[in-house]
Amino acid sequence: MKVRIGVSCGITYTKRGAAFNHLDIGYTKSLLASEALPLVMPVLQDPTLVDKVLDQVDGLLLSGGVDLSPLLYGEHLMDASHRYDKRRDANDLLFYRAARKRGMPILGICRGHQLINIAEGGTLYQDIPSQVDTKILHSASPEQQDMEHMISITPGSELFQALGTEELLVNSVHHQAVKDLADTLKANATAPDGIIEGFEGTQGGWLLGVQFHPERLSDQSEFQGLMKYFVEVAGREK
Ligand code: MN
Repeated sequence: MKVRIGVSCGITYTKRGAAFNHLDIGYTKSLLASEALPLVMPVLQDPTLVDKVLDQVDGLLLSGGVDLSPLLYGEHLMDASHRYDKRRDANDLLFYRAARKRGMPILGICRGHQLINIAEGGTLYQDIPSQVDTKILHSASPEQQDMEHMISITPGSELFQALGTEELLVNSVHHQAVKDLADTLKANATAPDGIIEGFEGTQGGWLLGVQFHPERLSDQSEFQGLMKYFVEVAGREK
């Protein structure tokens, strides 16, 4: 039987108040290319259903999306006009905590990576350009293509095993980033300016976060290799 990966999704709200489940097709495409069966997990109204959904999957992929509310890690909003999505924050945290409790393999991408750090007790930079002295552009204006920068990967780390290299040019589409890394996590990749671009868990089940977007670069072997590595871990532990 194929390895089943649950993928969290976002919510798109329309002007007339309708809400749509929302997920970049790159996630399911790269999982399918890894011989996995991706199952898109709905935004649930009923938290008691979380475990029933998780019973159906072997691994959890926390996808990217809108910024996480700074209220989650006890900070005031630097920009009160910025839009957050409390409903998605709550839903993703429910899935994360329940999966973590089971020791289920978890991969967090971008927002998912940041969510893991918050759930484990860490904090974020709310806005890299105004809080970090750096010349690297980690995000572009919406009409531009993804930015790019190098990362250095710790030899021997899980991310190194997955990517098979110590240096890699990655895409970058984030203006938030890990500030204080949670005690239960260990950084395994950094940008030249020191921004944490990857981490792994030091206790409990297999846990990996990446700040870049492998699902958008699945035509490149390293990035597809990362997805495949995650599917293999989930398959081994099911
Ligand atoms: Mn970056």
